[in-house]
Amino acid sequence: MMRAPAFRWHAATSLADAARALAEGGPGALLVAGGTDVVPAIKRRQYQPELLISLRRVAELQAVGEAGGGLRVGAGAILSELATHPQVHAFTALERAAGQVASPHIRNVATLGGNLCLDTRCNYYNQSLEWRRAIDFCMKAPAGSAIASPDGGTCWVAPGSPRCWAVSQTDCAPALIALGATLTLVSARGQRVMALADFYRDDGMTWLSRAADEIVAWVDVPRTPGLRSTYWKLRRRGSFDFPVLGVAAAVDLAGDVVSAARVVLGAVASRPLSVPTDQLVGQRLSDAVIDGFADEAARLAKPLDNTDFQLGWRKRVARAYVAGALRELRGDDPAALGVLARRMTALIPS
Ligand SMILES: Cc1cc2nc3c(=O)[nH]c(=O)nc-3n(C[C@H](O)[C@H](O)[C@H](O)COP(=O)(O)OP(=O)(O)OC[C@H]3O[C@@H](n4cnc5c(N)ncnc54)[C@H](O)[C@@H]3O)c2cc1C
Ligand code: SF4
Repeated sequence: MMRAPAFRWHAATSLADAARALAEGGPGALLVAGGTDVVPAIKRRQYQPELLISLRRVAELQAVGEAGGGLRVGAGAILSELATHPQVHAFTALERAAGQVASPHIRNVATLGGNLCLDTRCNYYNQSLEWRRAIDFCMKAPAGSAIASPDGGTCWVAPGSPRCWAVSQTDCAPALIALGATLTLVSARGQRVMALADFYRDDGMTWLSRAADEIVAWVDVPRTPGLRSTYWKLRRRGSFDFPVLGVAAAVDLAGDVVSAARVVLGAVASRPLSVPTDQLVGQRLSDAVIDGFADEAARLAKPLDNTDFQLGWRKRVARAYVAGALRELRGDDPAALGVLARRMTALIPS
């Protein structure tokens, strides 16, 4: 059994208290919310905090409700509650993404903030200390302040690469980016707001544009009348696994013509990948338009050999899932789309 090393514990009682503790804790301080990702990582010695600051008792982070004409979701909101919350129902992509993270047990403690800050992942990295030592480690040492990692210099996915290609596998980030969400970060220095899309960096080692003393406080999702959204997730075990592909799509239709669209792919890069939607806007969602767009999305998706399934197959599924998601938003019969999803599952190489 892996054991965590000793650390000090501070249960923050308010957002201001958490921000103060994080600032005072310096490089040895680390936030924990549900702990479903960070606790195993501590046991694997990927984080070696001197001080863990728990956000679980911070009531200000837990609210879910209307704010400024849209939906505000606190970073401490529990995923299983988000997936069944009546006010989240209209935001289908978020409802579906939150409802498909991990397993029901994990969703009962995991938070939105932890999901949005989820470390990037790689088959060569999400392993025990002994396993990583046996391959002489690799170049990824988690970004942030609480790290004293012994990891070394080679990327085993792309030897010779100057960068780490670990993959962003959060489900909720692509969904919220497709919905046009903004993020509020709070620190002892003040607060700032940014587009959620700008929170992510294309870098497996420094995947967030978050300063070490900043706390994700909440996300705001604009309420756009008529906006339809969805989230399609590919994973090996439907009740448990991380996404190997996530497709979040949102379209605003004026009649049957697309007036605005956002399509975001998860698990194909070190950050959620926004696909330019110029070729959708101003068009009817005909089969030809959808298929042309899906071809382009699959071309941009560049999965590497550091998660599950074969690369070529994953690219083919990316095309099929983008096309399927857009057909769903066009109003196609869900039963027919279910057949498509089942066909894709049947294609899984043994
Ligand atoms: C078996 C298994 C399967 C999983 N499957 C999935 C999956 O399918 N999809 C998926 O997306 N994830 C999956 N996860 C990962 C994880 O459970 C979820 O991403 C979860 O939402 C993380 O939330 P948490 O509250 O537990 O985060 P924690 O583990 O507490 O924290 C995660 C990271 O976020 C930071 N953090 C937490 N809250 C804040 C905040 N408010 N501000 C700044 N930083 C913060 C922590 O310091 C840490 O670095 C899986 C995990 C396991 C163990
Ligand atoms: S992509 Fe390369 S450097 Fe990054 S975690 Fe994987 S093996 Fe390590």
